[in-house]
Amino acid sequence: MTYLDNKPTLFKSPKDVPMPWPYKNFKPEEFASNGNGEVLVVPSFMDKLQLLRDKYGRPMLISSGYRDPAYNSRVSSTGTKGPHTTGRAVDVQVFGKKAFALIALAGALGFTGCGVAQKGSHRARFIHLDDLMPEDGHSIRPWIWSY
Ligand SMILES: [Zn+2]
Repeated sequence: MTYLDNKPTLFKSPKDVPMPWPYKNFKPEEFASNGNGEVLVVPSFMDKLQLLRDKYGRPMLISSGYRDPAYNSRVSSTGTKGPHTTGRAVDVQVFGKKAFALIALAGALGFTGCGVAQKGSHRARFIHLDDLMPEDGHSIRPWIWSY
């Protein structure tokens, strides 16, 4: 599908994201930065994420999507250029059997970065997924890590 002419587009607010939005299981609000409220929509990444959702067949709770660089540098050791600042990374709140299924599908669908946070309370557990590549300046891919 073609959305936003397939170009990464930054919006001041998720309310500014043009409708119809083609990603039926997600809302722009879920991807807005918890810092300044902006949202960077990258259609190629969202296409991949919706395909993952289709195959996974269950709700995917996005606990973090886009992060503006200033906010990311406050919450992540990756600073102002971390994966979430590209609009091509999400954290999905999930654990156990469902987390395993999500990782297995993500690898098959072209996601290249996988962070595993599976300690502590179930609500605090998540899987980070992104589709970044070395040419995007994000080190070696594919790569899996833990927190
Ligand atoms: Zn993440």
